[in-house]
Amino acid sequence: MAVIRCSVLGVVLLCSAALADPPTPFPQQEAYTVPQAWLQPMAPLQIADNVWQIGTDELTSLLLKTREGAILIDGGMPQSAEHLLANMKAVGVAPQTLKWILVSHGHGDHAGSLAAIKQATGARLVANAETAMLMVDGGAHDIHFGDDILYPPVRVDRQIQDGEQVSLGNVTLTAHFIPGHTPGSMAWTWQGMRDAEKLDIAYVDSLTAPGYQLVDNPRYPHIVADFTATFKTVKALPCDLLLTPHPGASGWDYTDATQSARVGCADYAQKAETTLRAQLKAQQAD
Ligand SMILES: [Zn+2]
Repeated sequence: MAVIRCSVLGVVLLCSAALADPPTPFPQQEAYTVPQAWLQPMAPLQIADNVWQIGTDELTSLLLKTREGAILIDGGMPQSAEHLLANMKAVGVAPQTLKWILVSHGHGDHAGSLAAIKQATGARLVANAETAMLMVDGGAHDIHFGDDILYPPVRVDRQIQDGEQVSLGNVTLTAHFIPGHTPGSMAWTWQGMRDAEKLDIAYVDSLTAPGYQLVDNPRYPHIVADFTATFKTVKALPCDLLLTPHPGASGWDYTDATQSARVGCADYAQKAETTLRAQLKAQQAD
């Protein structure tokens, strides 16, 4: 029951309703809990000349140094922003020299820290329209996860198309749209150097459909067709060296110097395709 109380302040009559019983508090926000290794900070790991993994043990954040400043690809979980900034400094990248931020896809385990990184550095965020829509809402309304994986919203500064390039200094990266894991999923390819040799580096998004409804999904009717086209695209990428947002997907173990299990783009896509076909068959049988 509400009780109305009024008082006179100058010539203005102020009234407020005081509730006899306190209202029920808002519900707690569901925490997005992830494996510990996704939150385990690591020292910068050099991947190639001027390319470092600066994220966590099991989430990739790549830093590319160029003559004109640096580029970050993916930012991991929201909690990792300070760690990424510290790792940038550790390899000689001052915050204000980060110029571009690129992404694989707009889920909270890869885009979670980007609002904070953008604010701390002034770097400009690059993504396609689908990913921009997801990130500006902080991951809300995701086709498969709904509002379960929210993170600080972040606005894209430059929207790109399939095949468009982003350049800085002596590095040019090409965007490849590979929809499936999200409608805006992307791969980035560029030419790097390692041991004085040229190297085609591919950073390719997740090709998984964890718990996704593949058959008659009203939010994503063409998901299987998109995945099918994506597998073909990934198999054809220039790919001497493959990296993925979840390093294990491409056989990387950032804590193991031998890296003996690494795979290339064709094998990565083939394995993902086999898994998706089995998942689809199981759903069709239900
Ligand atoms: Zn994801």
